[in-house]
Amino acid sequence: ERALVWLRRDLRIDDNAALYHGLRMAREVWCVFVYDTPLLDPLPRADRRVDFLHASVGALDAALRGLAPGSAGLLQRHGAAVDELPRLAAALQVQAVVASHDDDPAALARDATVRERLAGIGCAMHTVKDHVVFERSEVLTQGGQPYAVFTPYKRAWLARLDDFYLKAYPVARHAGALAARPPGIAHGAPTLQQLGFVPSNLASLKIPTGEAGAQALLDDFLGRIDDYGEARDFPAVKGPSYLSIHLRFGTVSIRRLAREAQARAEASEGAATWRSELVWRDFYHQVLHHHPHVVGQAFRPEYDRIAWEIGPAADEAFAAWCEGRTGYPLVDAAMAQINTTGYMHNRLRMVVASFLVKDLGLDWRRGEAYFATHLNDFDLAANNGGWQWAASSGCDAQPYFRIFNPVTQSERFDPQGRFIRRYLPQLAALPDAALHAPWRARPVDLAAAGLVIGRDYPAPIVDHDAARQRTLARYAVVKDRS
Ligand code: FAD
Repeated sequence: ERALVWLRRDLRIDDNAALYHGLRMAREVWCVFVYDTPLLDPLPRADRRVDFLHASVGALDAALRGLAPGSAGLLQRHGAAVDELPRLAAALQVQAVVASHDDDPAALARDATVRERLAGIGCAMHTVKDHVVFERSEVLTQGGQPYAVFTPYKRAWLARLDDFYLKAYPVARHAGALAARPPGIAHGAPTLQQLGFVPSNLASLKIPTGEAGAQALLDDFLGRIDDYGEARDFPAVKGPSYLSIHLRFGTVSIRRLAREAQARAEASEGAATWRSELVWRDFYHQVLHHHPHVVGQAFRPEYDRIAWEIGPAADEAFAAWCEGRTGYPLVDAAMAQINTTGYMHNRLRMVVASFLVKDLGLDWRRGEAYFATHLNDFDLAANNGGWQWAASSGCDAQPYFRIFNPVTQSERFDPQGRFIRRYLPQLAALPDAALHAPWRARPVDLAAAGLVIGRDYPAPIVDHDAARQRTLARYAVVKDRS
């Protein structure tokens, strides 16, 4: 009869599974978003993700009112979700709460508490798939096991795919069930300040928010998707879609994106490659579901035998990595990108992760945690998968003896140094050839650029060839079966 749709990482109307199911199951439906204090309180007071969230929640509120004039819009609460949800459900006297799955272990624990408390007031909680195309155990091997290798997973994923799985949920058709706000129930939209935050630089970065922002990025990307295969590896080029933050908050539907990719994949190599990236996303989500120990531990246990560098020198190396002063320009420019924008190009994520683990000999978990606090698109499954890939400890990871050379990567993927120059203006005057390893630059070039290594730009904090040897020795323990 009456239902409450709890929106979390699905902040949109278009093709929203939880919203659709809520509208189908009840005659009177309300929607709520909870600014969950256990998640928000530990964050820095200026956080791009909170800005994005706040703007997108506001946009969804307006969109819901537009969908059903006179309806309550998006009710908003600021507090612990485990308290706020049952309280609102009781006040609205709903029989059901509907939400989409969030398979992060912490979210599962939170949802279990909410479900229990709702049961105490006679209210059911239903959760549905929304965030991925195939979740949990939907794609398994013939023997009923989860896949541990991407390529056969992708083959099975594609074989399983049909129109049914990509069909959009027709939310608007059922909008009539969206109810008005009952007397005594506050709408409760807090300002950013009321949430205890101050604006970040999100607006100046022109990162578009909400469903409309995702639509604009998608339109732009579809115009260049055919070039994705070649363009995506060059950080100075507008190659990727930049939709990751929208996927994280659900301001775009993954089915929608997969549909767009699928429709073009036959004819367009770029679209087929992009579709593979969406499959990687599902892959890492199912890894997390089947192997939750990856949060905190290596997917392959023998990799937890590795002795990482610790102590003051390791801490200083870690600080240099975080602050982009390793002396390797591509690494430092990439860290400047994440630190100033919250985004980092995929190629560079691989380069800096490899550098942390295999040049500095630091535990991948330190890098993972840094990314988790700094990435706008932080996603536990993808971030953990990416870090364990780079550390070689993960599911279908890079073999440990494959070690990126940060200078060669720079020469290949930023040949004219356009990306490096954008983020490290102090190096801008160096000739292209000297940009990738400034410590090797001819004195005449350094002098012409007015650059003193060690004063204007750091000398490299590690010698790559020596580090490579140390890494091979460090990783030898993974072969030791004793
Ligand atoms: P596009 O190239 O346009 O790709 C489209 C979408 O596909 C992305 O938005 C993303 O959802 C998905 N995707 C692409 N590559 C991957 C991948 N390798 N694994 C999983 N999904 C992928 N991605 C995150 O969304 N959140 C993270 O926290 C994250 N951490 C990473 C950490 C490391 C060390 C590495 C190597 C990769 C990480 N990635 C993460 C994957 C990838 O770098 C980003 O998804 C991508 O750069 C986002 O930019 P885009 O939306 O423009 O990507």
